[in-house]
Amino acid sequence: MLSYISADIIRHVYLNFPVATCLIGRTGLFIAANREYARLLGEPEGGVVGRHFRDLCGEALYQQVVRDFATVDAGGCVPNKEFGFGGRTFIVAIRPLTEPSRQRVFALCIVLTDITEQKTLEQRLELANEQLSAVNRQLEEAARIDPVTGLWNRRALEELLPREIARSRRDGTPLSVLMVDIDYFKKYNDHYGHLAGDIALRSVAQAMEEALHRPGDLIARYGGEEFLVVLPTTDAAAALQVADHLRSAVAARAIADATSHLGRVTISIGVASLNGVVPDADVETVRTALVHGADQALYAVKSEGRDGIRLHAEALPTP
Ligand code: GH3
Ligand code: MG
Ligand code: MG
Repeated sequence: MLSYISADIIRHVYLNFPVATCLIGRTGLFIAANREYARLLGEPEGGVVGRHFRDLCGEALYQQVVRDFATVDAGGCVPNKEFGFGGRTFIVAIRPLTEPSRQRVFALCIVLTDITEQKTLEQRLELANEQLSAVNRQLEEAARIDPVTGLWNRRALEELLPREIARSRRDGTPLSVLMVDIDYFKKYNDHYGHLAGDIALRSVAQAMEEALHRPGDLIARYGGEEFLVVLPTTDAAAALQVADHLRSAVAARAIADATSHLGRVTISIGVASLNGVVPDADVETVRTALVHGADQALYAVKSEGRDGIRLHAEALPTP
């Protein structure tokens, strides 16, 4: 096939090849350089051959060429690399040219492929991916927040509570939960309307959230007008104090309720505590025991008249 292509044609193709390429001899002089390569260096066509690489590209790059010669002399390969030049990005490929007779590398062929467009696309794609991840994180976060109160929702609690139980089991620390329920809230809604009910609900939630001081404490909206508070490393006595604190905080808001004999919105709280979770305990069993325990204690407060606090009396599975 080659016999059909004259040396002139090959030279013409080389010189006009749409990719920058050159040949550098062992002394550092350019043996050949095509039009694209000269254009890249800002040199006129034919203004590169015969000049020294150092003079056109600087000492540092020339030293790299010297090292590349040493690499190929030792039988190694020069890996392709990315190279930024003149605000554009190139892939630099360097291959040795060997004299057929003497098996000696006499020149390096350098090819600079401009990948600026691909790079820009890649960066845009990366940026778009980052933005997408950020939006996803926000969506995930939003899916875990109750829109009315701004507290964790039940779904978030299903993740957070087992995590705290597992931590308590690992560290042998106590763990308490509070089940909080707004008293006679149906009557409040019936009297003031659902919108006012939402405002009261939000106010109760904020009061409790502000009253919780420890960073590990969690509060979630568990259902309609019910909340679950998780208190890590907190025993029954301390949990009762926290419950009292929450009740006082809601009382301090003095949310007027003409339907209640106390004249304001009140809450009832059931408390369940574990001194520690047994090492081989099943997280789900412990979760059920804690939540049911707090729920039973809450039920007891309700039957006693509301606006109160009760500790679940039965022993929960502790070490
Ligand atoms: P108890 O003291 O026994 O808890 O009585 P209660 O009326 O609070 O309890 P019940 O379970 O009978 O009714 C709960 C009411 O809470 C029903 C509904 O009117 C109200 N509620 C639940 N979720 C919401 C909400 O998102 N917004 C509003 N405004 N009200 C809600
Ligand atoms: Mg309720
Ligand atoms: Mg209620």
